Amino acid sequence: MKSLITKSYPFLKLAKWLTRNTPKIMMYHSFSDAEKEGYVSKAHFEWQLQTIKKNCVPMSLIDLAELNENKKPIPKNVVVITIDDGYKNVFDYAFPLLKKYQIPATFFVTTNFIDQTDWLWPDKVKYLLSNTQTQETHIEFDGTKTELNFGAINHLCLNLENNKKLKFIEHLSKMLDITLPVGPPDEFASCTWQQLEEMQLNGIEIGSHTLSHPSLGQVSDEQANVEIGDSLTVINTHLGNIPRTFCYPNGQPNDYNPNVIKIVNATGYKAAVTAFPDKHVLTKEFAWRRYSGAGNEIHFKKVIHGVEMIEYQLKKTVVCDY
Ligand SMILES: [Zn+2]
Repeated sequence: MKSLITKSYPFLKLAKWLTRNTPKIMMYHSFSDAEKEGYVSKAHFEWQLQTIKKNCVPMSLIDLAELNENKKPIPKNVVVITIDDGYKNVFDYAFPLLKKYQIPATFFVTTNFIDQTDWLWPDKVKYLLSNTQTQETHIEFDGTKTELNFGAINHLCLNLENNKKLKFIEHLSKMLDITLPVGPPDEFASCTWQQLEEMQLNGIEIGSHTLSHPSLGQVSDEQANVEIGDSLTVINTHLGNIPRTFCYPNGQPNDYNPNVIKIVNATGYKAAVTAFPDKHVLTKEFAWRRYSGAGNEIHFKKVIHGVEMIEYQLKKTVVCDY
């Protein structure tokens, strides 16, 4: 399969032609100086940008959303780079390359994280687990026992109602006897507003990823309104009142729902994205699908040439109905 896809130029060319009218939206989170698990290295990202430059038309999500809204023609072979969360490593490693190749992108930021009044809860869990001396193997919460490892705790947290999740993390911090700093420690550092301003001035759209990164499927309507609405106000206050787009934290089917979509639309965002691909691609309004940008070279070529898109269409893969 590897040789067919990477060496068979006609095959990639055919897939690219078949999917030329449907933009491909890529999703990234963290970047690194050298190869590191869970990060996209700057060398690999540079190769990706050169490949995009050669084969596709890069565009920010807001530009695509506005062409779509105004029923203007969308160029063929559009690729949209989106980056979630707000980590400083995006400014350090991805932004210089985006600038070098003059490739626009969209950066979705969690505004409390940028404000240094909070940091991302999965990072808090990682921090607690990597700094503990405990001999315990499990944690008990609300009558259920969970193994003390990131996978098990992350799974539990994603399925807890948001306020309960916050209580659980407090409980974990007490049990492990580690005080969580108010703002992010260095290894989980965020960008500053000044860095975001510099990025915005250089073609990077700054979109919203809520105030505190909750699963919007696990909060009340009132909380969803605050997370979705206030984060936009905060970004606009710092970076100017211009059209912006939105990204659902965690972005899986149970992290948003038709009601959350309505709130995002009513707040005035121009588009919103999930964190998974399926056959719907751009047909579900305010829930455009994304492909991971974190894979290897073969995966990346398959995605930007539309091979993955065709596979989901042929298999009729539906992850979510909305
Ligand atoms: Zn996120």
